[in-house]
Amino acid sequence: MTNTDNLKKELKRIFGFDNFKGDQESIIRNLMGGHDVFVLMPTGGGKSLCYQLPSLLMDGLAIVVSPLIALMKNQVDVINGISEEDGVAHYLNSSLKKSEIDQVKADISSGKTKLLYVAPESLNKQENVDYFKNVKISFYAIDEAHCISEWGHDFRPEYRKIRESVDQIGRAPIIALTATATDKVRTDILRSLGIEDAVQFKSSFNRPNLYYEVRPKTKNIDKDIVKYIKENPGKSGIIYCLSRKKVEELAEILRANDIKAAAYHAGLDAEVRSHTQDDFLQERIDIIVATIAFGMGIDKPDVRFVIHYDIPKSLEGYYQETGRAGRDGQEGDCIAFYSQKDLKKLEKFMENKPVAEQEIGRQLLQETQAYAESSVCRRKMLLHYFGEEYPKDNCGMCDNCRNPKKKIEGKDALVIVLSA
Ligand code: ADP
Ligand code: MG
Repeated sequence: MTNTDNLKKELKRIFGFDNFKGDQESIIRNLMGGHDVFVLMPTGGGKSLCYQLPSLLMDGLAIVVSPLIALMKNQVDVINGISEEDGVAHYLNSSLKKSEIDQVKADISSGKTKLLYVAPESLNKQENVDYFKNVKISFYAIDEAHCISEWGHDFRPEYRKIRESVDQIGRAPIIALTATATDKVRTDILRSLGIEDAVQFKSSFNRPNLYYEVRPKTKNIDKDIVKYIKENPGKSGIIYCLSRKKVEELAEILRANDIKAAAYHAGLDAEVRSHTQDDFLQERIDIIVATIAFGMGIDKPDVRFVIHYDIPKSLEGYYQETGRAGRDGQEGDCIAFYSQKDLKKLEKFMENKPVAEQEIGRQLLQETQAYAESSVCRRKMLLHYFGEEYPKDNCGMCDNCRNPKKKIEGKDALVIVLSA
């Protein structure tokens, strides 16, 4: 067992960082001390290091479950680059050929590999479970752990079977990490993984540099958006729409107005999507008009605004999507267009879904509605949604704090959120 007093030295030696960020050190000490750990940290907080560093210091193989197949190769390359040796990190997912899988397993069996990224369906595959039974596992890291929960914004049924696979392979400490902070999701994660006694860490979800605003959605919305972009020339932005059709239409309208914009949704070829993403990262285009298929794992630090053309389906999703603005700590405008008509459309749409899903969907939507219609500080509401009390009365960085308006008539929106 490595002496954890040297953790900071190892951080510097391996990753070149002088200091731990936030709770990283404490999280790592607990994991290396044999505890199950639950980590809630906003995107960009530095969750990966919480399993990468201990994986390299501990005996055996660390298994990291992640849904982001597209990003695994990149992460593995980074670790292998740092350790100046191929095979220290590997990934196992459906993109690998048989011969590649054999190589991965050979490296694991030889003890060379310390860190293995796996897609959940690869972990759960019986032949892999049987293989791992003979491997010494240092710990299991469940990244993007909200995928376990139907209350999260990216439910993956395979995540539900992780604990079963762990039990078959052999129990070792489990660390679950997510940026999704609602109580329902947290409870689901702890229960499904069977780590109710985990040591829990939660960082603040406040993003002080983000400005939140809700605007009424009228038939002039396209003009409103063009005007906003023209007032912010050359700035990078993301515009989220619910439908692929609207994504394409709006991108077309923006281009017709001499705005460098491109469409992104899951219906486009993988090649087109990857090209568009590159264009955005390299600033050949300023604006991406996208469905929520765009954004997970995208690390562009200087996105200056995120606009929601349609009301988001949940506040959770809204927080994650707006979180892509201002990652460099500089300004980030988060503007949501809202109309009751849209709300009705979404409610209607839900009628075709299974009953259980309908119930969840309705409640999530109700919370978004409350947010949109409220005259209370948006920041306060968002943080409250994540179980965090915002200490000030006026954040100065949302429309409601800058331009206090009279209370909405009828039911008071905040009451719904506070009792949710
Ligand atoms: P998350 O998974 O929480 O969204 P990442 O693990 O991708 O965040 O880390 C976000 C960024 O923070 C990365 O660029 C990473 O290199 C950087 N980072 C992580 N830990 C540290 C540290 N201790 N010091 C400096 N930078 C760090
Ligand atoms: Mg991450």
